[in-house]
Amino acid sequence: MWTSSTKSMKKAQTIKEAAPLYSESSIDRVRFGANQSLIFIRIRVPLTPRSDGESKLRQMSRSVVLRKPRSYKHQRKEQTLRHTASVVKSILDSNNVRGYQEVQVGVKGRGTVFISTNTNLGNKYLRDKLSKYSLKTLAEHLSSDRVASTLAPVDGGRHIRVNRHVKKFITRVPSLEEDWAQNSIQIPNPVDKQEDGLHAERRIKRAMGIEGPLPREVSIKGIRRPCAHCFGEMQYQGGVSVAAGPGPMWGSQAASMGNVLPSTRVTHLTEDRNGGITFDHDSDSDSDADI
Ligand SMILES: [Zn+2]
Repeated sequence: MWTSSTKSMKKAQTIKEAAPLYSESSIDRVRFGANQSLIFIRIRVPLTPRSDGESKLRQMSRSVVLRKPRSYKHQRKEQTLRHTASVVKSILDSNNVRGYQEVQVGVKGRGTVFISTNTNLGNKYLRDKLSKYSLKTLAEHLSSDRVASTLAPVDGGRHIRVNRHVKKFITRVPSLEEDWAQNSIQIPNPVDKQEDGLHAERRIKRAMGIEGPLPREVSIKGIRRPCAHCFGEMQYQGGVSVAAGPGPMWGSQAASMGNVLPSTRVTHLTEDRNGGITFDHDSDSDSDADI
């Protein structure tokens, strides 16, 4: 069964990148967490629970696509968008803005940078605080006022990761000559109350006025990979996605907003620089180098 599904995976890949890699019958969906943080992770083969104390996430990591730290050498723009997402999340957290789950950042061509959370409240805060800046002036503000040092510390490995991103943002962005780094930051308009919770990347897509596949000139990156629902919405014309694969499927009603079908591809999880397994952020950079 494993052999046949692998064969069909390769065949599907050659036909169309966006096609499901596995048929519904060959994969399992595993529940993880509970209530608001309930997620479903698609694994290749049924999980045989172990009793040796190994975490469920670690056990599942052998049956998903595990993404290790990688080079962003040819994706500097996308890397800067990721750094921006970390900086903005730190600003929100250090100012006690609660209830949001994610920050995503998008650019269309040379034009406007859109920054969004997945809540109207989160976006209201960003609109009040960030609309007067461009990425460049925000980076200058953070470095000149030593504001960066006041950004919320977070526990464990994420602390190091966020600090690295803040540092990169402050050192790299002021030297960017591109228009998108100098144009005013835009925050997507609020959505209707019943739609509040709509995921950040889909708010950005709406704010850009895009329906259907993304034009090639669009870059959207955030802290997490697009979830299984957003993954299909984040496809370029031609079928390649902004992410190599979907993150988990979130159990919340907001995740399935708009009746989009969740991806049936195997979940992509992250192995961080310390060998930890997480779905809280996408692949780390494999280097601290600037170029
Ligand atoms: Zn999503």
